[in-house]
Amino acid sequence: MYFCVINIAAMRQELAISFKITNWCNLNCAHCCECSNCHCAPNFMPLEKFDNYLSESRTLPFIPNELFCIGGGEAMAPYMHKNPNYIPCALDLVYSYKYVPTIKTNGTWGQDETLRKKILSDISAKAYKYEKLVTLDISVDEFHNNLDGVAKIIRDIMGSSELCYAIRFCLVGFNTSGSIKALNCLQQKLQESGFNIQKTLANDWMIDAPNADCGIYVCNDYTSNIYDLGRAKQTKVYNCEYGTGLIKTTDCLQIDNEDNAILNYLYREKINKRPLNEVFNSLMQQQEHR
Ligand code: SF4
Repeated sequence: MYFCVINIAAMRQELAISFKITNWCNLNCAHCCECSNCHCAPNFMPLEKFDNYLSESRTLPFIPNELFCIGGGEAMAPYMHKNPNYIPCALDLVYSYKYVPTIKTNGTWGQDETLRKKILSDISAKAYKYEKLVTLDISVDEFHNNLDGVAKIIRDIMGSSELCYAIRFCLVGFNTSGSIKALNCLQQKLQESGFNIQKTLANDWMIDAPNADCGIYVCNDYTSNIYDLGRAKQTKVYNCEYGTGLIKTTDCLQIDNEDNAILNYLYREKINKRPLNEVFNSLMQQQEHR
């Protein structure tokens, strides 16, 4: 049988992979654990490198988490810098390597109707092409003045069956009263627009659109302390099969647009054209010898 030939002892635990495609962000949050802001150069990881690193990620000795994260800075930044093909091309690559994409964003682009429609149309087109959902991982907390933009994104998705079947979103903040207040405020805005929101036992949301037969499941991740970089980690994974959020602890490998590989937001090495396998093993050793 397939499982018999795998040397389980030699395998690592599950690993979540993310690419930080840029350090540029349209916001300038003081607490930013990515050290991103609007003063950083709007450089993006070249798509050729994106492709190569994805290819190499498939050779690493771990159990791959199928969710792959495109982050920043602001992951939608290419749209704001006259590079509207970047995210669609990146999604083509992510899907072609059999990952399911999550895009981390502050959602402020939701305020710009033209941009919002373009982005939602682009990403849903890729979800249909590859028959797998795209997830938007949106910050909703006390630091991002983005509730109006996020509400518009959610209203557009819920208002279109085409978008509704292609895009999921996960709301992410801290385990602080400020973050919970922002989440409640968003809930109130959506309810005032006619959406029915029910909380699940895991404190996630089921949102029903007015006059729609089906709802959408929204994963809420508000478990991270503000000081431990927890928010940057992928801790809660949407489970398509059971429709519930699961708390999972996985190792996380981030590759940034300056060719650094970073393990669990703590151990960092320049890749320097070395095979990703070699860099990953070296990072794991650093972690084990800590
Ligand atoms: S929106 Fe996110 S990436 Fe941008 S500065 Fe704020 S915390 Fe950093």
